[in-house]
Formats: sequence, C-alpha cells, structure tokens
Amino acid sequence: LIRLAVVKSSSMDKEVDIRKVARQHAEMDAFFADFSIRGDEAYQQLPIDNDLTGALCQISEKINQCRACNLGSSRTNAVPGAGSPDARLVFVGEAPGADEDAQGLPFIGRAGKLLGDIIAAMGLKREDVFICNILKCRPPGNRDPKPEEIMSCLPFLRRQLEIIDPEIIVALGAHAAKTLLETNESIGRLRGEFRQYCSGPGAKPVKFMATYHPAYLLRNYSPDNRRKVWEDMKKVMSEMGLPVPSK
Ligand code: URA
Repeated sequence: LIRLAVVKSSSMDKEVDIRKVARQHAEMDAFFADFSIRGDEAYQQLPIDNDLTGALCQISEKINQCRACNLGSSRTNAVPGAGSPDARLVFVGEAPGADEDAQGLPFIGRAGKLLGDIIAAMGLKREDVFICNILKCRPPGNRDPKPEEIMSCLPFLRRQLEIIDPEIIVALGAHAAKTLLETNESIGRLRGEFRQYCSGPGAKPVKFMATYHPAYLLRNYSPDNRRKVWEDMKKVMSEMGLPVPSK
C-alpha cells in the first residue's frame, strides 16, 4: 500500500510538473506573441545578392561533405544554417538537436519555436535574419560540444559571418558566446551589453550581444529570465533602428 501511495504521489507530482511547465511555456508564447509590430513594416529587406548566396551555398556544400570530426559520421544531416545572405542580424546557437539533425535545418524544434517567437516579437521574420550554430552536426544525445569539435567546425562559421557581414551577431547561450568572444566569462556576465566580435587581426569588429539560449529559457523559465532575454533583444532592436516597444 505504501509503495502504491508513493508511486501514485510521484506520478501526480509529475503531472503537476508537466502542467506547470505547459502553463509556463504558454505564458512565454503569449508574452512574445503579444508584440504586434509586423516584420514587413519594421524591416526593409534588401534584394538578395547572388554572389553572397553562391558563396554561402559553397560553404554549405563543404559542411555537408565534412568528416573532420566524428560527428560527421554520426549525424543524419549537417545543419549549415538558414536565412538571408543579406541579413543585418545573425543568431548563433550551440549545435543542432534531434529535430534539426533529422531535417538539416537550424532551430526547428521546441527551442526553435521560441526563437521564432522572439524574432517575430522583434518585428522580424526568420527569412530576414540568418540562423546557424557553432557546430554544424549534432553531438550524440545532445551532449555539450567538445573543444576539438568546436575547433574543427569554427572556420565554417567564421566564413559564413565574413560573407554575410552582419551589423549585429546574437550569441544564444554560453557555448556560442564564449567561443566567439574567446573568453571563459559566464553567460550571466557576458549577456546584456554589446561586445565586439572580431574575426582576426585587422578585421572590422561586429557588434555582438550574448543572451540566454532559448532551450535554457524553456528549462529555467521565470519572468526574470524571460525579461532579461527580451531586454537584450530590445537593445539589438534599438541598435538596428527598429521600433522598440516600451514594455
Ligand atoms: N539548439 C541549438 O543550439 N541549435 C539548434 O539548431 C537547435 C537547438
């Protein structure tokens, strides 16, 4: 009887937990969906430059053929990135997850939906920006990227950033922020203020904002964490000359 009661109460806890998480996710969806600036009004899309598209396609082909680390043989699809070659804003995440690996597209799972909501709340569309990752292949079981994987994959991202030449880079989470800024500072310290990304000596520095990864936000939902991400994105919007909502 006691065992049954324990089992019953722990499964009820789980049910309460699931309901709580579902309510929190709905609250976050509603928060970001509440911003009504339309992307097409707020954002002037530049005509696509075929040379840039071609250059990005070449990189994607190289990524698809890459076997420089073990992830090249465990992946289903490489995930080079997606979006506008003319993007003023590039989002850089950590690495593809299971959904992304299955389809070869970045940020299409649950965290991707939240990123899409954030982009829409900024008055932009996914097609206006470029979305990619530090690693182009999924680490098995979504484990953290290994330093040697980052080192062998990073030249692809650096080249993508060179081609796109965005005004602003947003790093989603600690791995992207620390890798691109070449620092060990925590994401809590890195986020919230503009930094500079520099691809090498003499290269033009690019404005760089780090923020929490959408998956972190989903796992550690609190109005305070959500507010921090939104404050970071409002700074990006202001820098881009986009209308910034007061709340
Ligand atoms: N998380 C990432 O960092 N990148 C993706 O593409 C998906 C989830």
